[in-house]
Amino acid sequence: MKSQEIRQTFLDFFKERGHTVIPSASLVPENDPTVLFTTAGMHPLVPYLLGQAHPSGSKRLASVQKCVRTQDIEDVGDARHLTFFEMLGNWSLGDYFKQDSIRWSWEFLTEKLHLDPSKIYVTVFAGDQDAPRDEESIALWKECFAAKGITAEVDKPLAEGGRIFAMAKDSNWWGPAGTTGPCGPDTEIYYDVDDEWLNQTLPDGMPDFESSRLLEIWNNVFMQYNKLEDGSFVPLAQQNVDTGMGLERIAQILQSEAQKKRLTIFEIDTLKPIADEIKKVVPFVDVDTISGEQESLRIITDHIRTSVMMIADGVYPSNKDRGYILRRLLRRAILHSQLEDASWVAPVVEVTTSIYKEQYPSIAELQDDITKAIGEEVAKFQKTIAQGKKEIAKRESLTGKDAFDLYQSYGFPLELTKEYALSKGVTIDEAEFETEFRRHQDLSRTASSGQFKSGLADHSDMSVRYHTATHLLHQSLRQILGDTVQQKGSNITPERLRFDFSWPEKMTFDQLKAVEDLVNEKIAAGLPVTVETMSPDAAHAAGALGFFGHKYGDSVTVYTMGDFSKEICTGPHVQNTKEVGKFHIAKEEAVSAGVRRIKATVE
Ligand code: ATP
Ligand code: MG
Repeated sequence: MKSQEIRQTFLDFFKERGHTVIPSASLVPENDPTVLFTTAGMHPLVPYLLGQAHPSGSKRLASVQKCVRTQDIEDVGDARHLTFFEMLGNWSLGDYFKQDSIRWSWEFLTEKLHLDPSKIYVTVFAGDQDAPRDEESIALWKECFAAKGITAEVDKPLAEGGRIFAMAKDSNWWGPAGTTGPCGPDTEIYYDVDDEWLNQTLPDGMPDFESSRLLEIWNNVFMQYNKLEDGSFVPLAQQNVDTGMGLERIAQILQSEAQKKRLTIFEIDTLKPIADEIKKVVPFVDVDTISGEQESLRIITDHIRTSVMMIADGVYPSNKDRGYILRRLLRRAILHSQLEDASWVAPVVEVTTSIYKEQYPSIAELQDDITKAIGEEVAKFQKTIAQGKKEIAKRESLTGKDAFDLYQSYGFPLELTKEYALSKGVTIDEAEFETEFRRHQDLSRTASSGQFKSGLADHSDMSVRYHTATHLLHQSLRQILGDTVQQKGSNITPERLRFDFSWPEKMTFDQLKAVEDLVNEKIAAGLPVTVETMSPDAAHAAGALGFFGHKYGDSVTVYTMGDFSKEICTGPHVQNTKEVGKFHIAKEEAVSAGVRRIKATVE
């Protein structure tokens, strides 16, 4: 089955079961400044999983969502991980629960996709001091297997019929997204991708879910508990289901079976043409010093595909945030390609866009822009490489610190420094180089862990308060400076808010004071915060600020704060502006020509 048929079969299956099909959201999360990219189908749906009514009015949703997981970058090169993939998902917002969810997953896999039930293994939550073992899921799985004549034992060696395996919280529990809120057990579905596996004796007869024999295909999360401030778990009023299945992995299984040979994820219909094109244009000279030829081909294929998807959603290479991630992906691909010109970019982009043009039409429209952006980055990086090489050639030996400085100031990659220095007979202090490298890695990992970790919105109390404060600030700026002020960006952490807006010059002290006072006045006024769903036209007519792009069919959510502020937003917000606390502007500065930034705190 081709990817397009899998997408359609999935959406039709859930449509027939009362689900509203929603379009993929952008890879750039809207109204969620806490993460860089959309990492799962549930990500754009967080407000609805937290209890807000979905604008479609439906309690059952299904989608095919574009996802980027930069945290999986080190895994790219194996047979199953990509940095960009599409996630098939179905959701129940306080509607059906474990029974329908598990039965439908089983039915879809075995009846619609005709997967072999004897190759399916599942995991469930084992239970701990917070919540009991998920007996309900176990019973449901037993029934599913039994209907196919398979006895499914729990936690037994495979030889004794083991099928269902109970796992601890670190693998079979989701959430909460912040420190408190909805969370619960999940059940994961795995497929045996090697026919001979069962004939091999595994050490203790128990399956290894981290091994390459078992491919995780689908995860069903059951939001069943509410974690409270005191750390206790109580049953949740609105119980939700959130599922996610990797399209590429399903394609990998189905296309492997059709071709009667075990394929890697890079050999499926949406990836192989890209890899083939890259193979044509990239000669692979001397790749061994960086990694094997095959791994390089996979890395280039993955990274270029992800870059195309990111640029199509409006991300461009830069030194910050998303743009920086994109730049890193492109540089890594360029490094692995070992090519000194950019002639390969156009054909590779063309193949990629042609694969996705039906599913994501904007990709085809933007093909020239994408080619240009990648081509420019290639040229820029090649200059960097040339510069770094010149620096190295000037010296007789390099300390680890020198190598690191080359990296810091020229962006000259450490692998290349090492390789090039050695080829020129320049000696290099490798041990020190490794120490510097590791220190740098640790630093950047710590710095970015917040944004890359789970890829889920932070809905802690503080963040919610900052979210509301951001709306009040936006409106106050417009009131004090005028209606030309437009939001250009926003970022919230539990410690502060950051708001970027269009304004040509430095704000005066008096203007800042007036804005701060106005925000505090609206907080003190205790304005009620209300939410409504309406059509974009109605929102526009009501004077709501925000984006008017159509999302989720034809309606948007609008948050109103008394008679002061009205903005399109997915929330969440406090219920009364009083809850925001005292607002203080800590800093006003330039971001770029015509754009200013305010950092503010609340107490
Ligand atoms: P894994 O342990 O294999 O990395 P995961 O636990 O990160 O998977 P989930 O977060 O549950 O996966 O995502 C749901 C589904 O999305 C997975 O079951 C899998 O089919 C798919 N998936 C997750 N990460 C990737 C990836 N990097 N590339 C391709 N598909 C993926
Ligand atoms: Mg993962």
